[in-house]
Amino acid sequence: MTEKLQKLVIVMPCYNEEEVLPQTFKVIGALLKKLIKAKKVSPQSKVCFINDGSKDKTWELIQKAVVKEKIFSGISLSRNFGHQKAIVAGMYDIDADLYVTIDADLQDDCSVIEQMLEKIKEGCEIVYGVRDSRDTDTWFKKYSALAFYKLMKLLGVNIVYNHADFRMMTRRAVNTLKSFPERNLFLRAMMPLVGYKYDKVYYDRKARPAGETKYPLMKMMGFAWSGISSFSIVPLRLVTFMGFFICFLSVCFLCYIIYRWSVRGTIVGWASLVTIITIFSGVQLMSLGIIGEYLAKVFVEVKNRPLYIVDEKIGFDN
Ligand code: UDP
Ligand code: MG
Repeated sequence: MTEKLQKLVIVMPCYNEEEVLPQTFKVIGALLKKLIKAKKVSPQSKVCFINDGSKDKTWELIQKAVVKEKIFSGISLSRNFGHQKAIVAGMYDIDADLYVTIDADLQDDCSVIEQMLEKIKEGCEIVYGVRDSRDTDTWFKKYSALAFYKLMKLLGVNIVYNHADFRMMTRRAVNTLKSFPERNLFLRAMMPLVGYKYDKVYYDRKARPAGETKYPLMKMMGFAWSGISSFSIVPLRLVTFMGFFICFLSVCFLCYIIYRWSVRGTIVGWASLVTIITIFSGVQLMSLGIIGEYLAKVFVEVKNRPLYIVDEKIGFDN
């Protein structure tokens, strides 16, 4: 009996990627054709490029590529929604048996998709692509990313070490992910919550062949904080501990004042007082800020706005 071939969709989020796309079309197109030819996936399989509100010629390039190659398709979002939402737009808006999400800049080695298919055959529902080496990343990017994974673990968040958003998922895993109603998306911590049988494949992360990173330092830090505040309440707990600690300190301080007053009858020095007042007001403001951040998350969730808005879809006629 011949096994029914599974339809694979490779989802590639693209934001201002005109420089790298010509190369991406070649590499990913050749890979999918090879998989179809080897009967590893169905001939209906597609690469879907998600244009995340690009300001350059990204969408024009995708449109041209879709006209040329029937294995290509495209979804254009109405504006820039961010990497995470561009990925879910591809997964939730296209019907397929298997989904791969991978960056459009080819930094993640797409040739391991074949190994991912093998793992799915063995019964896995999710296969994580894990970066084996980061030699091509800058020193700062490499160590800040590693520190981030360690911090997430410390804060009690279950996250696959050195895995970004390159992964393969079955329809079942994607449907389960869809049942998570949250608007603040941090997929690399959400997937382990989905559960099911999973495995990892390893690859070397390459340098970006063209174009620039769309994650400058501030955006990267914002993304990291979004991950922490969406999945961990430890920062809030720290605020509480800090409160207890400061109360304890103030009791000690009060004892000291009473002692000084009883011994010498007077307290000198406004500098120490000013220092203490500024430190404590700093801690209070920081604590309020952390609570505010969590409140802002609740605010976003309550509004329940759509995750993404599709402007145009091309290449889905078969
Ligand atoms: N990206 C996106 N929307 C954004 C920012 C980035 O769709 O608002 C895409 C981008 O085109 C790329 C992927 O997300 O395909 C990862 O971005 P990038 O390679 O710049 O990040 P880095 O690898 O430097 O962390
Ligand atoms: Mg990249």
